[in-house]
Amino acid sequence: MTIPLTATLVRMAGTDDAPPRCIALEGEIGRSVRCSIYRERPGPCRDFAPYAPLGIGDDDCDRARRRYGLPPLEL
Ligand code: SF4
Repeated sequence: MTIPLTATLVRMAGTDDAPPRCIALEGEIGRSVRCSIYRERPGPCRDFAPYAPLGIGDDDCDRARRRYGLPPLEL
């Protein structure tokens, strides 16, 4: 599911595509999706949108949603 970048660094396949779509993402964007490796997801995914559970928005999340024609999440 990964593409090697260096001897010690990999990237999830699909995240460099245009538009990006991680190979681990299952479902239809805009309807229902889930991470198929959520318990083992990479560090950057664990660090993404750390304030979302607190109801605080995230510019990166909004930008990713815009790529698919989706509005920002309502908090
Ligand atoms: S959380 Fe990370 S590994 Fe899971 S689908 Fe999203 S980008 Fe891929």
